[in-house]
Amino acid sequence: MAEIDHTVHVALGERAYDILIGPRLLDEAGALLAERFPGRRYGIVTDEHVAKAQLPRLAASLDAAGLEHETIVLPAGESTKSYQKLETVVEGLLAARLERGDLVIALGGGVIGDLAGFASAITRRGMDFVQMPTSLLAQVDSSVGGKTGINSAHGKNLVGAFHQPKLVLADLSTLKTLPPRQFAAGYAEVAKYGLIDDPGFFDWLETHFDDIRDGGPSLGEAVARCCAHKARVVIEDERETGVRALLNLGHTFGHALEKDTGYSDRLLHGEGVSIGMVLAHTFSTRLGLAPGQDAGRVAAHLRRAGLPTTMAEIPGALGSTESLLAAIAQDKKVQRGALTFILTRGIGQAFIEHGVDPQAVHAFLEEMRP
Ligand code: NAD
Repeated sequence: MAEIDHTVHVALGERAYDILIGPRLLDEAGALLAERFPGRRYGIVTDEHVAKAQLPRLAASLDAAGLEHETIVLPAGESTKSYQKLETVVEGLLAARLERGDLVIALGGGVIGDLAGFASAITRRGMDFVQMPTSLLAQVDSSVGGKTGINSAHGKNLVGAFHQPKLVLADLSTLKTLPPRQFAAGYAEVAKYGLIDDPGFFDWLETHFDDIRDGGPSLGEAVARCCAHKARVVIEDERETGVRALLNLGHTFGHALEKDTGYSDRLLHGEGVSIGMVLAHTFSTRLGLAPGQDAGRVAAHLRRAGLPTTMAEIPGALGSTESLLAAIAQDKKVQRGALTFILTRGIGQAFIEHGVDPQAVHAFLEEMRP
């Protein structure tokens, strides 16, 4: 019997699925999959780091359950979310003679989840896939909700599809091999859920942070609470026409900074989100919407988690304020030239604001940049 600490159901009608959270689900995956999806073959997509650290556990468990599997290993990093690697995955799945009814497994962080999910959405006009997220970011965010895709020269995530997984297996023990900087980056998304509309969760995070960082019982609880939050939002707004945009708190500034730094190691996605969330709170304070002490409290907690909270902490020179603003305008959250931001009235009180004045954003960035 698999040891499951938490189950979150994503109630999306015929696209409904479970998120199972437990301490050793990769070792138990073979039995779980054989029971839920009898008679399938499996195409595992992973990256070179995860292949080294976690793939042997999954492969052994599929072997033990007698499940046939092929593996496609890609280079690690954001640049793998490309047209070229999409082709590698699609052609690899076809070469492995996987049928439409077979299953793709995305074993890795958000990069692998987004890429393998998109490849599943388009190979043979749509194959089923299972998310096995191995980074904190992927466990609390990217593996849930069905947004899949790759990056374009025009920006991040501009090419993709909504394609829900059939199952998510979040094995908490995989986080033990995740580098601490990556753990911290994922933690930015954990804090985000509190900051959107759950101030009680943000309080709880402030109290339980040490146990979460050390992999204690609070880690599983935090992952489950984040997944439940994301599931609620996705059920309400699967295709992001409304409230789902709240999940982008901190992402408009964050994406612009990520683009400016070339999606490189200079700034990880979660680090951009961390700086972006502090900027969103500070900008809201400047606009007279939120109390100043809340921005300070957010920054203090993210700093404690080892995250950058200011643009000055990004190594190397940033581009011009005009280019940052252009990146914000290029972001897909723009509607007919007006800037859309997630602003806040304080911790846990985020809201979507359409038509933010680009001049005000320009002046704010000038003030905040090093
Ligand atoms: P990632 O997939 O690049 O993983 C981060 C690094 O950690 C990589 O080097 C990876 O090889 C390594 N790694 C992952 N798990 C490991 C493990 N258990 N042990 C050792 N190394 C491990 O990045 P990420 O932060 O997981 O995801 C970021 C991506 O997710 C971005 O492309 C972002 O756009 C996307 N994203 C998607 C959604 C969505 O809804 N689809 C939401 C948020 C973010």
